Amino acid sequence: MRCRDAKQLLTARRDSNLTRSDEVTLQEHLHYCQPCRATEQQQQHLDTLLSTSAPRICNSIPTEKIMLAIQQQRRISQQLEQLRTQQQTRIVRLRTVGMALAAATFFTLGSIPLLLLAITIEQTGLAVKALSLLSNVIDVLYILTQYLQTGLTIATRNSWLLSGVAFAVVVMMGMWLRLMRYPQEA
Ligand SMILES: [Zn+2]
Repeated sequence: MRCRDAKQLLTARRDSNLTRSDEVTLQEHLHYCQPCRATEQQQQHLDTLLSTSAPRICNSIPTEKIMLAIQQQRRISQQLEQLRTQQQTRIVRLRTVGMALAAATFFTLGSIPLLLLAITIEQTGLAVKALSLLSNVIDVLYILTQYLQTGLTIATRNSWLLSGVAFAVVVMMGMWLRLMRYPQEA
């Protein structure tokens, strides 16, 4: 038997395709051929390595690593969910704060004329001086607004909307002026 045939037989034995007579002739060859014996030993070493490591790989991947990966993935998705809820609550909180701020600003701005009116009613004597100064300023503003309205009317002769806005501003200024002048006259 030649070494090439022996190696073929070794491969066949590995796949369990070896007859009884082939096994005997292979053993005879291996008995006196050192290189083929080395090949057989190498093959056996490889086979044991594969047979012991294969189940270990198969066991370690599903049981531990896959479970760990699943847990990590679950944890990440939970964290993402938490972040999303946090963001939503933050948006709701910001919206409420914004609404409260807007309401406070609106209330403050709206209460300024009322506050001034209350002051003028409560302390007419003291307020008259301040009001006479204020009404001078308002007169100037009124005149300025009239000029502004004239300018706007000329500039936007075709735009009724802007003219309406300017008119509304003038009307509001006039109403405020009357409101401010009332205690002085009384
Ligand atoms: Zn040989």
